[in-house]
Amino acid sequence: DITRPTVESDTELAFEGALRPASLAEFVGQKKVRGQLELLLKAAAIQGRTPDHILLAGPPGLGKTTLAMIVAHESSRPLRMSSGPAIQHAGDLAAVLSALVPGEVLFIDEIHRMARSAEEMLYLAMEDYRIDIMVGKGAGATSIPLELSPFTLVGATTRSGMLPNPLRDRFGFTAHLEFYDEAELTEVLRRAAALLGVRIDGAALAEIAGRCRGTPRIANRLLRRVRDFALVHGREADLGTVREALALYDVDDLGLDRLDREVLSTILRRFDGGPVGLNTLAVSVGEESDTIESVVEPFLVRVGLVTRTPRGRIATPEAWRHFGLTRDSGALF
Ligand code: ATP
Repeated sequence: DITRPTVESDTELAFEGALRPASLAEFVGQKKVRGQLELLLKAAAIQGRTPDHILLAGPPGLGKTTLAMIVAHESSRPLRMSSGPAIQHAGDLAAVLSALVPGEVLFIDEIHRMARSAEEMLYLAMEDYRIDIMVGKGAGATSIPLELSPFTLVGATTRSGMLPNPLRDRFGFTAHLEFYDEAELTEVLRRAAALLGVRIDGAALAEIAGRCRGTPRIANRLLRRVRDFALVHGREADLGTVREALALYDVDDLGLDRLDREVLSTILRRFDGGPVGLNTLAVSVGEESDTIESVVEPFLVRVGLVTRTPRGRIATPEAWRHFGLTRDSGALF
């Protein structure tokens, strides 16, 4: 399933790395966030201090890792990368924090998945550049204070709602990344095609842009599949080639992938359009409710196929139409 952000092969990661914009100026779209970040970095530079902590929130593949790298690059600071799942004990975090050099940018991806005990250590670290390390157990336990170098934390999360308030409050700025529009995605693709040396016309780029779930990572991935298709069949990468290649990979004309369609079809067919609760839906499609809520649903809501109500998720009339179904019958027209 090529539109799903799962485990990536080394080549995929190498491609992603090669396509990553290195500066804010090269970063396409997210105009508001770019402006906000630029100001924050400039103010810190003028005052000669480390930039405030930054939280990047939004669905996968919209450029959070890229922005963290840009923050480090634009402020000429080294970058250290870690992730929530890798920090399962306070000690894991203490090891990372105590190794930071002055001014370093620390990127923690999926920060909402960090252990609770580490979160509490992070509060103090973010506020006072200090941690207390607990040594010993029971009555003999003592805490040893440890001074840290000033650093900028860049946290990324697909679930900002899941972060405890004390953690959220300690970020000086939260950037909410939005899905990209087609013009922006066309620009992302044009840039990627040039970097990969793929010859592809404007209509073909626009077609991919309209079918990549508003997500640069998926756009770039589809471009590579189209390039492969053109290469193997000895064809130009034109509109016809894009359509055939995307059909081969089951990307429909709205860019919905297998899981999107499964979720929608479950709401329509099994729950007669809803409302259906998140957990029931997740069990029905055999996925974690976290994935449904933070990966699948934001896009379905954004394209107007699903609405969220207090009683559950409801498929819109557009969803019925897209599947060629009518309410109550669950059958084809
Ligand atoms: P995840 O949280 O799943 O890691 P992410 O939001 O961190 O996703 P990135 O890894 O930063 O996403 O970006 C994915 C790919 O999309 C990268 O290869 C990057 O080159 C490309 N990309 C993302 N945003 C942009 C952009 N604004 N302009 C050009 N390319 C972009």
